[in-house]
Amino acid sequence: MATALITGSARGIGAAIALRLAKDGYDIALNDISEAMFENNDIMDKIRAEGVQCEKFICDVSNYSQVEETVKAVKAKFGTIDVLVNNAGITRDGLMARMSEEQYDMVVAVNQKSVFNMSKFVGNVMMRQKSGRIINLASVAGLYGNPGQMNYSATKAAIIGMTKTVAKELGSRGITCNAVAPGFIKTPMTDKLTDAQRDAMLAQIAMKRYGEVEEIAGVVSFLASKDASYVTGQVIEISGGLMM
Ligand code: NAP
Repeated sequence: MATALITGSARGIGAAIALRLAKDGYDIALNDISEAMFENNDIMDKIRAEGVQCEKFICDVSNYSQVEETVKAVKAKFGTIDVLVNNAGITRDGLMARMSEEQYDMVVAVNQKSVFNMSKFVGNVMMRQKSGRIINLASVAGLYGNPGQMNYSATKAAIIGMTKTVAKELGSRGITCNAVAPGFIKTPMTDKLTDAQRDAMLAQIAMKRYGEVEEIAGVVSFLASKDASYVTGQVIEISGGLMM
């Protein structure tokens, strides 16, 4: 049985990706920053109901040594790591003029350094396997910028460069690395936006609606599938036609 590790997967897009990959037949290694994220939460039951194994691995993905230990634990539990989805991400929004150093540094650590940490240690496992799929969560903010998100858009643009670099470094070992760039998706993260921010976004979307988490999970499922075996270093925008 193949295994998928999805970071920040207790809720939101990460949980939807985990459930979709479980439906595709993967054993699932969930991750989130605290046990509390899994309380009053039926994601593990839903995944196990698909007939696959599911375990949770608590760690802060911005912490290099915690990630190293977590990857060892996932490998010990499941034997292989076939798909890595770097999904964990945070926002600490504010206009540049008022953004604190802490706001900037925290978003870089969680959104960007985590991709280095996870890709390095899981990449080592995949290189020994001579196969693997790495899928990173970028954002339209990384492609086009977004006022109030200098920190967030910097990390999401960086993830696109990291995706192409990993694709080039690991391609000869049978490992692909791609990114998805969601637009405006209905999750707790986007619930924090103001009505004015939401209305401004909708006005720009060709399909005049927000995306659903399952619509991100479906594209991630494709990138993890055999059908995507010759796709690497690509960024797939999933935004209902935000900018064309
Ligand atoms: P979400 O609902 O906030 O879920 C993210 C999860 O990651 C949360 O459970 C969060 O836990 C966890 N997390 C945060 N910091 C972590 C850390 N250091 N280590 C491990 N886990 C951590 O977010 P989402 O909306 O599903 O977004 C998922 C990904 O998609 C993110 O990378 C985001 O940037 C990207 N994305 C989202 C949208 C959108 O419209 N929602 C659009 C474009 C891109 P806490 O709640 O404790 O922080």
